Amino acid sequence: MARCRVCGSRSLLTAASLGVCAPCIRTAPSGLSSALTRVHAGTRRSFGLPLTPPRDPSGILCDLCVNECRISPGQLGYCGLRRNVDGRLVGGGPTQGNLSWYFDPLPTNCVADWVCPAGTGVGYPKWALRPGPEYGHTNLAVFYRACSFNCLGCQNWHFREAAGTERAMTPAALAALVHARTACICYFGGDPSPQMPHSVAAAVLARRRTPDRILRICWETNGTMHPRWLRKAMAIALASGGCIKVDLKAWDDGIHRALTGFSNRRTLENLRLAAELAGARPSPPPLVVSTLLVPGYVDASEVRNLARFIASIGPDIPYSLLAFHPQFYLNDLPVTSREQAEEALAVARAAGLTRVRIGNRHLLGTSCDRRDAVVV
Ligand code: SF4
Ligand code: SF4
Repeated sequence: MARCRVCGSRSLLTAASLGVCAPCIRTAPSGLSSALTRVHAGTRRSFGLPLTPPRDPSGILCDLCVNECRISPGQLGYCGLRRNVDGRLVGGGPTQGNLSWYFDPLPTNCVADWVCPAGTGVGYPKWALRPGPEYGHTNLAVFYRACSFNCLGCQNWHFREAAGTERAMTPAALAALVHARTACICYFGGDPSPQMPHSVAAAVLARRRTPDRILRICWETNGTMHPRWLRKAMAIALASGGCIKVDLKAWDDGIHRALTGFSNRRTLENLRLAAELAGARPSPPPLVVSTLLVPGYVDASEVRNLARFIASIGPDIPYSLLAFHPQFYLNDLPVTSREQAEEALAVARAAGLTRVRIGNRHLLGTSCDRRDAVVV
């Protein structure tokens, strides 16, 4: 375990990569913000990713996600996907997706499977194929290979190794993968935000191929897309029986910036918008929220504030609390302890949420499972 270089504490969990404990981040001593920016930039260098969002005033604006990059000729956007080629933005647009895919047997371990038609049969026969879990059917899982955030504890960080390379797949080719036993498509990653036009185009084509049967379309995202793309996605999710799954990383903006490199403001605004749009279909729930319980950083006070916010926009929005597994630049933190998870569950319920659960209990450890600091 690292010592916090601000307060000197060794008793509070501190990731070696950050070098600062949560209380010190929250009180934000001057200079901490630029130090954390340097930490994030350092993690991106070895992958050849832009260290910060490009801001060339004469560059082309990409507003697909919150970063609103201005990209000069030959330069990459922050996600490592969109590039200015001869004055045109290419990569991730509606005609070419940088992705990988696989079929996942239903019910999956999807973050929403405990409330969705595929996992529970809710909404049968309109939205589900059976009155219970849809055994014998599959989810087309689409992994978009880019992201708008830079999470130090990224659970799927390997996609960064392909940064800047093209693995183009057209929406039509993706839609053509849907077969008779495909009951849902789930976009995740990385994050779908930098490739929303592609995901929406593929969803429209796939639904056109299956006009008379169930094909739910879902997005799992950090919620940083431009609101116009959230509206399009929610319209498709509502019409198909699918849902939008938003991953809320932290409530305190300093903690959020430390963990992801960015503010949480767009994500919270989009979550509010999604809740408004979701009111059009009370069941199955069109909006599901999750939070990764990062030891030492996403503690009970974070979950309490996040849960209060969710309860203020919809107390019945399902909220899944997920166990953290040491990864990437947070590989010296322990797994989430059972005690931390149970406390988070209790405070989320006390905040007024009616549907909360611990998502992946099998990963939980004990509060003694601490690791020695290992720097990547
Ligand atoms: S999708 Fe986001 S990160 Fe990528 S180039 Fe556009 S604004 Fe930048
Ligand atoms: S992708 Fe959607 S429908 Fe399929 S299991 Fe996940 S939440 Fe359920």
